[in-house]
Amino acid sequence: MAKRALITGISGQDGAYLAQLLLSKGYEVFGLLRRSASADIIDERLRWLGIAQDVRLVDGNLIDLSSLIRALQEVRPQELYNLAAQSFVKSSWNQPLLTGQVTALGAGNVLEAARLVAPEVRFYQASSSEMYGLIQAPVQSETTPFYPRSPYAVAKLYAHWMTVNYRESFGLHASSGILFNHESPLRGIEFVTRKVTDGVARIKLGLARELKLGNLDAKRDWGHARDYVRAMWLMLQQDKPDDYVVATGRTVTVRDMVRTAFAHAGLDWQEFVTTDQAYLRPAEVDVLLGDAGKARRVLGWEPQISLEEMLGEMVDADLARHRKRL
Ligand code: NDP
Ligand code: GDP
Repeated sequence: MAKRALITGISGQDGAYLAQLLLSKGYEVFGLLRRSASADIIDERLRWLGIAQDVRLVDGNLIDLSSLIRALQEVRPQELYNLAAQSFVKSSWNQPLLTGQVTALGAGNVLEAARLVAPEVRFYQASSSEMYGLIQAPVQSETTPFYPRSPYAVAKLYAHWMTVNYRESFGLHASSGILFNHESPLRGIEFVTRKVTDGVARIKLGLARELKLGNLDAKRDWGHARDYVRAMWLMLQQDKPDDYVVATGRTVTVRDMVRTAFAHAGLDWQEFVTTDQAYLRPAEVDVLLGDAGKARRVLGWEPQISLEEMLGEMVDADLARHRKRL
């Protein structure tokens, strides 16, 4: 019989790629979807990947424990991936309590529902490199102490430790992937890589003349979402639940990422990019650089897509989107 997986956050970037991966492995894929006034476009990412018809959607919300219990009773999954979150760091200063309710307590709700209804399920928590924040070591691994720098990171830390705690307290098969930034053509447009590739496409097609950004000196360890969802799946295939860093081991400034994206379209970034205070943050995470040695050793995981390849794919996808609209 086919394995069943339930994904919270299926309408997001990672949810869509993970659904695609699991379908390719013969899973029956279910996704928790919160009610939206834009029901006609909420499955846009799934449609972009051509899999909207292949996944089954269950009505629910991370802050409604009863909906999670019902979803688990209905689906009876072997694997449960908790990807849903208020995931944008900058918004977490404007909506700190909502971020806590969804990203922190929401994860607690998913764990609690699993403990009550599906204690045998294999659980994945989407933890984040943002938890390292003000970094306590130049290269961050599973043993590096955390120092969150935003309400988002604080909320993720709660969810991360709840995952560890439910594993240790109740024997839940609960694993946490500490994923460094990962992007794709399906990345939310508010995140810097996608904002840049969309900006490049607009400028190239004459739809915009400039692109306003914030801190160009920040450094991130950027990978591709398609590579990173494979690591999530691998974690749940292990006999023993555990925590893993997933990263490329290379860090690049926003400035250099911007230069690469513009160059892909034959443009010089310095002619178009300006900076605007509005995009600065109350507290910045200056640099992140992950050591995925444990994921490599235990899971046999390796990233396959370089930053340059990914930015090229993203610019091309945004050019195609805008051309279609024109
Ligand atoms: P997205 O922002 O693209 O997706 C977030 C998903 O959560 C969406 O499907 C959204 O639904 C859903 N969601 C938000 N609030 C609720 C709620 N109250 N109830 C149910 N669903 C809700 O994130 P990504 O796909 O990029 O990331 C996936 C996870 O991984 C997130 O938890 C993120 O914080 C974490 N992460 C991401 C990293 C990255 O670089 N991408 C790095 C490390 C961790 P809707 O469509 O309705 O908004
Ligand atoms: P984050 O690492 O989860 O916060 O991912 P983002 O893509 O939102 O931001 C990555 C880095 O890019 C952060 O250090 C931001 O301060 C920096 N950055 C610079 N300009 C911008 C911008 O215009 N938008 C966003 N989202 N980030 C920017």
